[in-house]
Amino acid sequence: MADTPIPLEVRNIRKRFGNNEVLKGLSLQAYKGDVITLIGASGSGKSTFLRCMNLLEQPDDGELIVHGESVLFKDTKHGREPADQKQVVRMRAKLSMVFQSFNLWSHMTLLENVIEAPVHVLKQPKHEAIEYARQLLERVGLAERADYYPSQLSGGQQQRGAIARALAMDPEVMLFDEPTSALDPELVGDVLKVMRDLAEEGRTMIVVTHEMAFARDVSSQVIYLHQGLVEEAGAPQDVLGNPKSDRLKQFLAPKH
Ligand code: ADP
Ligand code: MG
Repeated sequence: MADTPIPLEVRNIRKRFGNNEVLKGLSLQAYKGDVITLIGASGSGKSTFLRCMNLLEQPDDGELIVHGESVLFKDTKHGREPADQKQVVRMRAKLSMVFQSFNLWSHMTLLENVIEAPVHVLKQPKHEAIEYARQLLERVGLAERADYYPSQLSGGQQQRGAIARALAMDPEVMLFDEPTSALDPELVGDVLKVMRDLAEEGRTMIVVTHEMAFARDVSSQVIYLHQGLVEEAGAPQDVLGNPKSDRLKQFLAPKH
């Protein structure tokens, strides 16, 4: 049997902003169906790490391999070498991101939001994109809301819409950056339910979250970041259930 490339591999990524080295050599491997959760204090580099994975930030050093396609970053005397823009677009299309703040386009209906990238980036015929978009909206419980504008939807509905929009690209990997952190508490459950379903159907996901129950139940691996380095990583029962470092113990302790 031919080897299928793994969806995502990150090797020794480094990133600095000015003199501030924010990522100090981070690696991960996401096999098909893996759910990797990233946890860590505010400022530990979680968002920057995710943004490097889909090249919203260009790493200074390291290697990114998306479904077998590799891009190398290296420090040179004159600064980093830019990745080829065509490659950036191609690789980014395989890694859909869902952000903390619901970032649906406000001047488009939900349906228009969901078909935008499939039609314009993947060049799907519009009627096919619409048919698929309707299926996806149904799956996230928004079939009745296809023609609503984002401002007419609750935060939880917008976020489920953003998940449908991400799914419409049929990504190799879905990246989530604290998708429930900006939601009113009563709306968090519906969004987590959609994410649990995605995990169950074998989607490969990298999730930054503070929802420890989600991390415990769904993750194949939990990575605890501290100041741009992996401090602890492993199965959720180990990292969350039996943390080794004092810092992680502190981080996981119930807050009052
Ligand atoms: P987290 O998501 O874990 O809270 P971030 O990745 O957002 O952490 O930030 C990590 C560090 O990088 C912080 O010190 C932050 O101030 C810094 N940082 C993030 N983005 C930028 C940027 N665009 N310019 C300068 N500094 C940044
Ligand atoms: Mg963040």
